Amino acid sequence: AVALRGVAKSFGGQVVLSGLSLEVPRGEFLAIVGPSGSGKTTAMRIIGGFEAPDEGTVWISGRDVTALPAERRDVNTVFQSYALFPHMSVLENVAYGPRMRGVGRSARRRKAGELLELVRLSDVGDRKPNQLSGGMQQRVALARALANEPAVLLLDEPLGALDRKLREEMQRELRRIQTELGATFIYITHDQEEAFGMADRLAVMRHGGFEQIGDPATIYDRPVNAWTALFVGSAN
Ligand code: ATP
Repeated sequence: AVALRGVAKSFGGQVVLSGLSLEVPRGEFLAIVGPSGSGKTTAMRIIGGFEAPDEGTVWISGRDVTALPAERRDVNTVFQSYALFPHMSVLENVAYGPRMRGVGRSARRRKAGELLELVRLSDVGDRKPNQLSGGMQQRVALARALANEPAVLLLDEPLGALDRKLREEMQRELRRIQTELGATFIYITHDQEEAFGMADRLAVMRHGGFEQIGDPATIYDRPVNAWTALFVGSAN
């Protein structure tokens, strides 16, 4: 469903990504892990259409989307910092995408209500975003992205602001939602346990390239080199 072919990106002479290639089949949950500054967010922004690669191409659902803006790709992104519409209620925020697609009022409110239930926010649908905590706003952003039913969802530390208990609950919920929708999820996390527990495959990034891509068991049991072993914690 998603492919990167030979993607390179520099910022002011600093090479951030080089020769990056990746194939993510439809319906896969892929986690990108790697140290701070390894290029995870930049790779994600290039897939999402928020940044243009210097070299290489981006493919979504079999189309070369390299030259297309974010809104013309079948992709939605949930960033660390959620940008909700401040003047709309929580429910209206979630119903926004369906409204833009012409879904009728009662159908989109029903859909938004279901999604709010999913993220455990049914009781705050009438509030404005600034009346919610950061973690709650993040869950609204997640529900809003899901309401667009994108073929591909990009998630950059979506559970980063949540406390441990809610985070574990949301990990299970997210995985369930992904499986149910048959959606392709590309997921950045700093939490190794989260990546290993949730993902079908992991892509381990270092210095702007993928060090290893594989299923969690393979990466853990057969890391390609000492650095990867250390990074995923399987070295001893
Ligand atoms: P983290 O885990 O800390 O979020 P990351 O792996 O997501 O890091 P990126 O955010 O992709 O890494 O950043 C990779 C490198 O690119 C960093 O050195 C960063 O400073 C640089 N960089 C990213 N975006 C820009 C930009 N717009 N202008 C200049 N440098 C940038």
